Amino acid sequence: MTSNPYPLGLRLHGRRVVVVGGGTVATRRVPALLDAGADVLLVAPELTPALRARADAGRLRWVPRRFVPEDLDGAWLVQVAVDDPMAAASVSAVAAERRIFCVRADDRTAATAWTPAVTRHGPVTVAVLGGGDPHRAMTVRDAVRDLLAVRLAPAGAAAAPSGGHGASAVPPGQAGAAAAPPGGLGAGVTEAGVTGGRQVGRVALVGAGPGDPELITVKGWRLLTEADVVVADRLVPGLLLDELRPDVELVDASKIPYGPSRAQEEINQILVDRALAGAFVVRLKGGDPYVFGRGGEELLACAAAGVPVTVVPGVTSSIAAPAAAGIPVTHRGVAHEFTVVSGHLAPDAPASLVRWDALAGLHGTLVILMGLKNLAAITATLIAHGRSPQTPAAVVQEATTGTQRVLRSTLDAVAADVLTAEVRPPAVVVVGDVVNTLDG
Ligand code: SAH
Repeated sequence: MTSNPYPLGLRLHGRRVVVVGGGTVATRRVPALLDAGADVLLVAPELTPALRARADAGRLRWVPRRFVPEDLDGAWLVQVAVDDPMAAASVSAVAAERRIFCVRADDRTAATAWTPAVTRHGPVTVAVLGGGDPHRAMTVRDAVRDLLAVRLAPAGAAAAPSGGHGASAVPPGQAGAAAAPPGGLGAGVTEAGVTGGRQVGRVALVGAGPGDPELITVKGWRLLTEADVVVADRLVPGLLLDELRPDVELVDASKIPYGPSRAQEEINQILVDRALAGAFVVRLKGGDPYVFGRGGEELLACAAAGVPVTVVPGVTSSIAAPAAAGIPVTHRGVAHEFTVVSGHLAPDAPASLVRWDALAGLHGTLVILMGLKNLAAITATLIAHGRSPQTPAAVVQEATTGTQRVLRSTLDAVAADVLTAEVRPPAVVVVGDVVNTLDG
């Protein structure tokens, strides 16, 4: 007759946890301990390469020998991850004597603590104990994870339950601190949520990926499901917006009138106003927010207004569009660099910041965004400054979507070929030997 276990969430930050054993069990257990901030002491004559790497990186302390009782000095918890039952029993005997909870991989009936099967969902941790049966725990855990994943999967529109905050168990206002990346966001970004006694919301600048709705990050998708207001770009995959809760305010940034600079001010103002009114605002941007996405301007505007900002990087079209066309931006022995450049301004435009002459001298891969309009001038400039006219070139239109098109050509012909084939934006131009590397 055994009693039920008593569940706890151990706050291990800075607290000593001793792991005895350096094999596969320890390899699986140690990352979660480090994630919890534990001060891990690993006692084992030998380590797996993965554990060795963490020890070398200074993430944990390794004592390269067998266990001695003094290893438990100062420990709050011990995890026994050795096969040898005699050795395991001696560790747990010392632990019991010192009233330190002891998890045993070799014999859970002899353990004083059990590790649950876990699934994590942003700030929420779901831990399942199977009443002594780890398989049952994992089965239940998998079912819970699948339930949460239904809400996480952009492609599963039909299966997703609609309405309500659902799996986002933490209200947006509280999720703020957990969602903020460690190390802060730089100048002027406040962590506090209150200004002048009023509850301030927050803004997340989220990269939506290049086009395929499944190419948003897990974190970006979670924040999107938690948003009160979504401000979306033209290039954002429409399917992502299909699944927003009906009560979410959707602002289509591409419909904002005025010219580009006035429109940007207007967007900044919307982000700040809504956040100051207490909303959780997701600014959803195509690709990565900081790659020709004006994410920096929006961050500065929010920071200036005292609005906390989280930045969630995205899969950028500058790498994903070539990849979707079977072109690796680097390849061993072919290209040891890739340069991403905006073709928005013509090479001879006074405001251009790009040294096209210098780019012409590089051997590596050149990825040009927003380059269709000026492609003839760009390619002519590259050739004039020494890049071979025969350099392979490709254009990828609407990459990673159902309407993706790929055109292959050479540097001297690509501009004309684009006109003939009527390639339209959004498109990425790739120049370099990598274009043909995976062919044939
Ligand atoms: N922040 C975005 C880029 C914004 S600039 C990112 O990281 O991807 C807009 C340019 O990105 C377009 O003119 C085009 O050159 C490129 N682009 C964006 N999405 C694309 C797609 N699905 N296929 C091809 N090019 C794309």
